Amino acid sequence: MGRPLGPRLTPRRPDGAAHGGAALGAVPPPGAYDPSMTVGRRVILLVEDEQSISRPLASALQREGFDTVIAASVAEARERLAEATPDLVLLDLMLPDGSGFDVLRHLRSAGDVPVVVLTARGEEADRIVGLELGADDYVVKPFSAREVAARIRAVLRRAARQRSHGSDSAIEIGGLRLDPGRHSVELDGEELELSRKEYDLLHRLMRDAGTVVTREQLIEDVWDMNWFGSTKTLDVHVSSLRRKLGDDPAHPRYIHTIRGVGFRFSSPDEARE
Ligand code: CA
Repeated sequence: MGRPLGPRLTPRRPDGAAHGGAALGAVPPPGAYDPSMTVGRRVILLVEDEQSISRPLASALQREGFDTVIAASVAEARERLAEATPDLVLLDLMLPDGSGFDVLRHLRSAGDVPVVVLTARGEEADRIVGLELGADDYVVKPFSAREVAARIRAVLRRAARQRSHGSDSAIEIGGLRLDPGRHSVELDGEELELSRKEYDLLHRLMRDAGTVVTREQLIEDVWDMNWFGSTKTLDVHVSSLRRKLGDDPAHPRYIHTIRGVGFRFSSPDEARE
């Protein structure tokens, strides 16, 4: 699985810069329908300055059924994003004119395009910062194209599932209101800025308010089951969520830690002031 990408250079579209908006807005060709995806070919924006990675990865992803657009810098990524919104962004962090985190912040200020961060082995801090900034997942270099494609599919599936749950009715508990239809969360009437994962986590906990949700269940529902590092990631997200809710872990109004088991969101009665 950790096999690095070989130098196979057969990109159908050799130059990402040559096909910006037109490709992003392109109508999928007939026969490109992928039943698992419910619509045609998904467009992946690959932000990566190393051509020895981006080119073979782009062509491998094309063989896996995705369309790819390459951006080799923060500036180029912003240009491509201004032209059209991709279905997902694969994001390298070390770019010649800045950090991939700048692109991530830009993306999160503008919407919720799924983002998978490409990190170097051993750079755990990068992964945690990326996830706190709202990345959906990460892969560690060196990676195989198959591994990246699997992550992309998993992230797109979750995003689609989340959209299909968009008609759920709003949940209101003790001054906190989560509205899946608007994908918004308000605390005492003030809108909270949550990352996608923080939102998913909160939604999952609030749906079962008053009962314990196990760590395994949360990881399975909000992340991938087999996600390396997910245990720590869950704790990172719970603490950032608590911070945004102004919830004191020692005397929680909302999120209770059930040590060794999971978390429990307060029932409406409990959360009443
Ligand atoms: Ca780089």
